Amino acid sequence: MKFLKKQDSELYDAMYSELTRQTENLELIASENFVSRAVLEAAGSVLTNKYAEGYPYRWSKKTGKLKYELYGRYYGGCEHIDEVEKLAIERAKEIFGAEHANVQPHSGSQANMAAYFALIKPGDTILSLELSHGGHLTHGHPLSFSGYLFNIVSYGVNKNTEQFDYTEIMEIAKNVKPQMILTGASAYPRKIDFAKFREIADEVGAKLVVDVAHIAGLIAANLHQSPIPFADVVTTTTHKTLRGPRGGMILCKEEYARDVDRWVFPGTQGGPLMHIIAAKAAAFKEALTPEFNKYQKQILKNAETLASSLIDREFNLVSGGTDTHLMLINLGKKGESPSGKKIEGALDKAGITANKNTVPFDTRKPFVASGIRLGTPAVTTRGMKENEMKKIAEFISLVYQNYDDEEKLVEIKNEVKKFCGNFPLYEELK
Ligand SMILES: *Cc1c(COP(=O)(O)O)cnc(C)c1O
Repeated sequence: MKFLKKQDSELYDAMYSELTRQTENLELIASENFVSRAVLEAAGSVLTNKYAEGYPYRWSKKTGKLKYELYGRYYGGCEHIDEVEKLAIERAKEIFGAEHANVQPHSGSQANMAAYFALIKPGDTILSLELSHGGHLTHGHPLSFSGYLFNIVSYGVNKNTEQFDYTEIMEIAKNVKPQMILTGASAYPRKIDFAKFREIADEVGAKLVVDVAHIAGLIAANLHQSPIPFADVVTTTTHKTLRGPRGGMILCKEEYARDVDRWVFPGTQGGPLMHIIAAKAAAFKEALTPEFNKYQKQILKNAETLASSLIDREFNLVSGGTDTHLMLINLGKKGESPSGKKIEGALDKAGITANKNTVPFDTRKPFVASGIRLGTPAVTTRGMKENEMKKIAEFISLVYQNYDDEEKLVEIKNEVKKFCGNFPLYEELK
């Protein structure tokens, strides 16, 4: 960052400190990851300079099919940019076996917005997963566009198993008769049966949208059932398990392709972020390699080991464990245990980054919460394996037992820093 350093030391200092934080701390936020140098290069490239409203293709009036051709854009000079977006689109389709891919959404939230608009109208009813049971803000929270524009009815997890009960969800759907059913989650540690959701959607004549933001990498590596055969539209982020740049993407059947495209641009966005689309293309190439499959398998092995080590240390996990990349510690009821907020703060002081999270049927408010969400994608990228997960469980347990002891937390922080030093990250950037 030599130019930044010279021209803007304030900004440089803040950014350099963030690099240091990323390398010295243990990153356990389930939705975060570390991209490769190739992805970083693409994201920091001159492609940020180019306007490219439109698409690198047109829809043929004769056949109704998509045809790559120059002049699908509203601006000149797009001949190279077109190649970049084509690479991203074709790789995305190959990874997921999708009929159509739109790689332009700036974020997962915007992918969701365009997807809903392509399928239903404001005022229609969406049946979606309750936020406090693992859903996402864009699945119907009143403060999100989704809750503002649509009539939202929620399903949750079963009180005993803390997992989806598809018979229960079917009953709710039959009563509610929604125009759209939405599944996918930000804090649900178990696999989701998309075929069952298709059955439920068909039973009540609803469209099905599946938001795989968290598990896209697992699906790409065939370690989770794919939603592609079952969903009308699939949305995702590209920066979580998929390990690409921060952004969104929509995959769909050809029959929805034109509506999805229209609702991304001009429906909800202007010019696409071409440097980010280039970075998506670079990440998608990585996702097509055997190393990526191995990486995703290791994420799951690590999550399993971390979960069982935490259970051995008497932590309570929502649903009793995990079969994905993430898990939720249930710290216990209000008045009987420290809150998620308290433990998140203590972990932070010890150099361990994680987030508080509500647990199903939480007794605390969302901003305080009774849970801690942990994920293994980022530490797995650093090269950590099962033995390191056992050590991480030990660190977490130590923090939990000493959450009010500032001195002890600093002591743990030094240990964590040493531990992370064995797994170099972005060395060349320092
Ligand atoms: C992370 C996430 C999103 C939103 O992604 P942003 O890029 O932060 O807008 C949407 N849906 C789910 C299920 C997520 O976990």
